[in-house]
Amino acid sequence: MGSKKKWLSAVTLMMAFVLVLAGCGGNNGGNTGGSGEGGDKKIELTFMFRGGPEEQKAYKDTVAQYEKDHPNVKVKVITTAPDQYVTKLKAAITGNSLPDVFFFETGDLRAYANGGVLLDITQYVENVENIDISKLWQKGVDLYRYDGDKVGQGALYGLPKDLGPFSLGYNKTMFEEAGIPLPDKDKPYTWDEFIKVNQQLTIDKNGDGKPDQYGTGFNVNWSLQSFVWSNGADWLDESGTKVTIDDPKFAEALQYFADMQNVYKITPSIEDAQTLDTYQRWMKGELAFFPVGPWDLATYESLPFDYDLIPYPAGSTGETAAWLGSLGVGVSSKTKNPKEAAELVAYLTASEQGQQALVDAKIQIPNLVEMAETWAADETTKPANKQEFLQIVNEYGRPLPGYRTYNAEWYQLFFTDIQPVLDGKITAAEFVKAEQPKMQKLLDKAIEQEQKSKK
Ligand code: CA
Repeated sequence: MGSKKKWLSAVTLMMAFVLVLAGCGGNNGGNTGGSGEGGDKKIELTFMFRGGPEEQKAYKDTVAQYEKDHPNVKVKVITTAPDQYVTKLKAAITGNSLPDVFFFETGDLRAYANGGVLLDITQYVENVENIDISKLWQKGVDLYRYDGDKVGQGALYGLPKDLGPFSLGYNKTMFEEAGIPLPDKDKPYTWDEFIKVNQQLTIDKNGDGKPDQYGTGFNVNWSLQSFVWSNGADWLDESGTKVTIDDPKFAEALQYFADMQNVYKITPSIEDAQTLDTYQRWMKGELAFFPVGPWDLATYESLPFDYDLIPYPAGSTGETAAWLGSLGVGVSSKTKNPKEAAELVAYLTASEQGQQALVDAKIQIPNLVEMAETWAADETTKPANKQEFLQIVNEYGRPLPGYRTYNAEWYQLFFTDIQPVLDGKITAAEFVKAEQPKMQKLLDKAIEQEQKSKK
C-alpha cells in the first residue's frame, strides 16, 4: 500500500488509522457556551484543527473550558478528519478565509512565515497571564521560532500542539504465552536478535500452513527512518542541501527492512496485509511489535492484551533511533483579534488546565516538562514505560527529513517510488542509486524556491 498512499504527515496518517478503527465516536462534545447573550458584544474567534474522534472531543472540551475562563470570547470550532486537513487549510489560504487560529505542519513554517500567512505572536505570548513558555519543552518551542533565515531562533510563529515521539510497542502477553524473555527497555535488540525473536513469534497456530501470528509489520513511511538512522545513514546531509540515500549504509538498512517480509517472512505478506492491515492485526493481538505514538494511547486502552514500549532495534551504530513529530498551532496574520487569538494558542499549548485536559484524554504527552515527568513516572497507567517517549523527546528523537527542508516533495518521491524494493523486485542498492538524482533535482528546486520567497 505504501507507494499509492498519498503522502501525509506522520501524525496525520496515524490519526487516520485511529479514526478508521475507532469508527464514529458518537459524542461530539459540542460546547454549550454562549448562553449569556446579553448586551456585551463577544469577540468571536475561529479555530480550525484536525484529529480522530478522541482528539476532536478532547479539543472541543478544552475550548469549552477556555470559554468559561474567558467569558468575553466565543470560539467557533471547525474540525476536519485528519486526511482532509491539509487540503482544507491550503484552500483557506488561497481563498483568503483563514481561521484566526489553526494547526499547521512544522515543515510549512518558513513558507507560511515568508508568505505572510502566520502572525508573529511573540509579544502576545509573552504577555499572557499565567503562561510561561520556558516551562515547555524547549525543543518543541524552538520548532516554531524563525528569524527569517533559520528555524530554531527568532520570533515565535506558533507553539507546539504537542511533541509526538514515535516509539515501538510490543505485545507483552504474547511474549509471556510463548515463554520468551521480555525485551529489555534499556538495551535495544541488535538487528539479528530482532529477526530471531520475530521468527520465534511468527506462528501457525491452527496448522493450515499459514501463520496467524506474526512478528511485526511496519509501514515504510513511518518506520524506515529508525532503521536508516540507527545504521548511521540519513536522507539528507547536515547542511540540508544534499540527498544522501546513495550511501551503502542507507542501502543496507533499506534492504534489511525489505528482507523482513521477503526473506525472513516475519511480517504478513502483501496479500495477507491487504485482507487485514498490520494496524488491525496489532489491535487484535496478532503482531508482536508495532509502533506506538502518544495519540494512540486512548485507543490502546482497550487492547485485549498488555503492551509496553521499548527502543527500536539498533543497526550498526549500536544506538536506537526514532523520529519526533510535532504540529504547530498558529495565528492568521489577518486576524482582527491577535491578542485573543494568541491567548487561545497559549491556553491550548501551554496552560496547566489546557494541558491537563488534553493529557487526561490520553491523546498526547504533556507540553509542560514537569507535568510530563510526573505523567511518565506513573508506571500504573499503560504503557508502563512511558519514559521511552520522554527519552525520544529528550535524547534521541529526530525530525522527519522532509520537515528540514523548504518543502518535502523530494522526500515524498522516495516513498512514491519505493514499492519495487519492498516487493523484492529490485535491490535497495539499485534503488538508491537510481533514485538519488531524481530526489536531488526536487531538493534543488525547493532550495531555489526558498531563496525566491525571501527575496
Ligand atoms: Ca494458520
